[in-house]
Amino acid sequence: MNIVLMGLPGAGKGTQADKIVEKYGIPHISTGDMFRAAIQEGTELGVKAKSYMDQGALVPDEVTIGIVSERLRKPDCDNGFLLDGFPRTVPQAEALDGILEGMSRKIEHALNIQVDKELLVARLTGRRICKVCGTSYHLEFNPPKVEGVCDKDGGELYQRADDNPETVTNRLEVNMKQSAPLLSFYDGKGVLTNIDGQQDINDVFHDVDAVLTTQVH
Ligand SMILES: [Zn+2]
Repeated sequence: MNIVLMGLPGAGKGTQADKIVEKYGIPHISTGDMFRAAIQEGTELGVKAKSYMDQGALVPDEVTIGIVSERLRKPDCDNGFLLDGFPRTVPQAEALDGILEGMSRKIEHALNIQVDKELLVARLTGRRICKVCGTSYHLEFNPPKVEGVCDKDGGELYQRADDNPETVTNRLEVNMKQSAPLLSFYDGKGVLTNIDGQQDINDVFHDVDAVLTTQVH
């Protein structure tokens, strides 16, 4: 079960990833975690990646792809994996196919959690964060018991500067533009499924699960 999970910020990817991992017992491989692990283990590629990140530079594809390749060869990926945040571009997706081909495997499902831009803006701009402990709340979907105050420690809640509607809309539009070619790529391979992410969390997972339990031809 080799899965790529896609979706815009705020679409609920993290929640669905947790549910997939829980049910199918495959590792959730996010780009951030993968980099952190490689750096911590001090692998040659990890050291390289860190040197770019320390300079505030983008890690080049060849380094990222090398780290992905090492990660996918670990034994916990024997029964599959859930990739999240990689690939981001068609060249990365092609490189991923190359890695998997060398392992006699392939991507079986590219799941795209779809949510309307307007709803994503509402979700992302309603976020409030505790100044003390960093717990995240949502005005509409996960409000604190007392307005403006953290349930845990009474800390003051604030809105991140880049969570305003204009910046959020901008971020989403950039993201949509970047992901469009990737969606076409997986559609062309016949592995793309769009999931309606505007339903209740459990209904979203019901749809995800239905796709994953369908036999691959
Ligand atoms: Zn708090």
